[in-house]
Amino acid sequence: MQSSAERVQVPEETTCTRCGSVLSESQDRETTTEGILCRPCSNNRRSELQRLVEEQSWDVNYPMALLGALLGGATGVLAWWCITVWSNFAFGAVAILIGLAVGKGATFLAGDKRSRGLQVMSLGVAGTAYFYATYLVNRTFVQQALAKGGREVALSFLPNPVLFYRVVSLNLDVLDVLFLGIVLYEAWKLTAPRQLR
Ligand SMILES: [Zn+2]
Repeated sequence: MQSSAERVQVPEETTCTRCGSVLSESQDRETTTEGILCRPCSNNRRSELQRLVEEQSWDVNYPMALLGALLGGATGVLAWWCITVWSNFAFGAVAILIGLAVGKGATFLAGDKRSRGLQVMSLGVAGTAYFYATYLVNRTFVQQALAKGGREVALSFLPNPVLFYRVVSLNLDVLDVLFLGIVLYEAWKLTAPRQLR
């Protein structure tokens, strides 16, 4: 109580952060991340932000975004596969790189754009990349296991759907589903339109 009483006795002069005009007690104001603004400055700021929000989804270059997403996805898949082959152990957590790389690739080649369309595209590319990476990783282990048994088998890099499904589903567990969820979440979040306040 003491401190609030003291504060009342020493009223501070409030000025608009933008135009510097003094705001009297009765004057309309708005507290923003930029500071306290008078009504006209607040309205200007609001329309500026509105324009920025709209511009980030305008003229999105989808072919370039797709290229970026695919390049990112390929990089993530190769990274995961190489780490697995090198370490001889499947670190599912590394798969999260795929989501990051797809999302970053899409927004980067699209000229730092964000839109719902980019989100859907990234989701599709990231999901496909994740399953293909799982195929590559399992393929390596299957071939190693067969080689130990004296059978040299080379599984195709472009398998038919049946083979693909059988290899991918070999040791699918709860963690894989969790990692897939994180991959999709990263791809979705990184391409989501920014909310400006
Ligand atoms: Zn102002």
